[in-house]
Amino acid sequence: MKTLELYFHIPFCVQKCLYCDFLSAPADEGTKRKYMEALLTETVGSAVQYQEYVVDSIFIGGGTPSTVAVEDMEHLLETVRGNYTVAEDVEITIEINPGTVDAEKLSRYRKAGINRLSIGMQSAKDEEMVRLGRIHTWQQFETAFRDARRVGFANINVDIMSALPGQSVESYEETLQKVLALENPPEHISAYSLIVEEGTPFGEMYEKNLLQLPDEETDRFMYHRTRELLQGAGYHRYEISNYAKPGYACKHNCGYWTRKNYVGFGIGAASLVENVRFRNGDDINIYMEEPCDHKEEIEVLTIQEQMEETLFLGLRLTEGVDAGEFAETFGKTLEEIYGEVIARNMRAGLLQWQEKKLLGQEDVRVEQQSGAGTMLRHRLALTEMGLDVSNYVMAQFLL
Ligand code: SF4
Repeated sequence: MKTLELYFHIPFCVQKCLYCDFLSAPADEGTKRKYMEALLTETVGSAVQYQEYVVDSIFIGGGTPSTVAVEDMEHLLETVRGNYTVAEDVEITIEINPGTVDAEKLSRYRKAGINRLSIGMQSAKDEEMVRLGRIHTWQQFETAFRDARRVGFANINVDIMSALPGQSVESYEETLQKVLALENPPEHISAYSLIVEEGTPFGEMYEKNLLQLPDEETDRFMYHRTRELLQGAGYHRYEISNYAKPGYACKHNCGYWTRKNYVGFGIGAASLVENVRFRNGDDINIYMEEPCDHKEEIEVLTIQEQMEETLFLGLRLTEGVDAGEFAETFGKTLEEIYGEVIARNMRAGLLQWQEKKLLGQEDVRVEQQSGAGTMLRHRLALTEMGLDVSNYVMAQFLL
């Protein structure tokens, strides 16, 4: 059976963080309940289209999914299991924020089959959290983390942010060190730099020069320190901004980067199924009235777009793009399509051929005849230097 990933968007938060442009907002309990009912309706209504697929990952993201009632989450997962074929080793992630969970809620998540937690911590410094407009403290994070371990979560991600207003290199390092010093530290760490988005309070403050951001050099230094400290602590950097202990790369997100089939439920949720992209509309009121009739922007990807996406997304992974799979899928080798771009970036030290796959599956070997005899071309990947300028390199693969 073919595999499928499911994503559920929960667009509710206790309050809006000052930098956030995600599709999320505070809401009353009645709205949350009505939305969760609509989500169930969409989930059940779509199931008939996916009977020949087996679900191998489920991601409940947002927003802050932990702001909805735990019984709604239990009901959602029961509904998925009742209507889809779910793999025995399915990865089920929920995003939570400290301050919105307690031991009982976490324990019920675990019993409902959720086996991966993603905790939005961002910083261990309470004053930095206040400046971001976030609702929780380091102590609340520590409590949530300890409770999660206690109720049996053995796969936890912690989100960290750098380049925050008023943040020094020392305070950023302190955040990293405090996470690494936790008893039984997390299996996975996502470390992103703050991006100031237009239309957010931070965007306005930036325009008025009121945001005391670290300069670019400091930002780069923090980025490099992240890699040094996390790799030194046994984490493998498997994607530009994601680090994991061996065997704990996020299956769901790797699916996005390798263009597996996925279906998104809820407002704003995107899907990619057999090279057709579609997306739910953003309007929550329309969605709650017509949850099954809400898909927009249906786009059938051309072969060229599929190739571009394969490179643009796949190069985010440090294991790179599988040359054999590319040739099998498109009937042409990477070098036939991208020979010049590859050669140019190899010469600049930004791309490399890698011998092995890092995330666990078998390699497909490609043998190519060249003047020098048979050469093995396994995986095309960014070098360390290439990872530093990944957008520049990846943009060159747009045909
Ligand atoms: S908790 Fe996350 S989704 Fe919600 S407002 Fe803050 S950053 Fe945005």
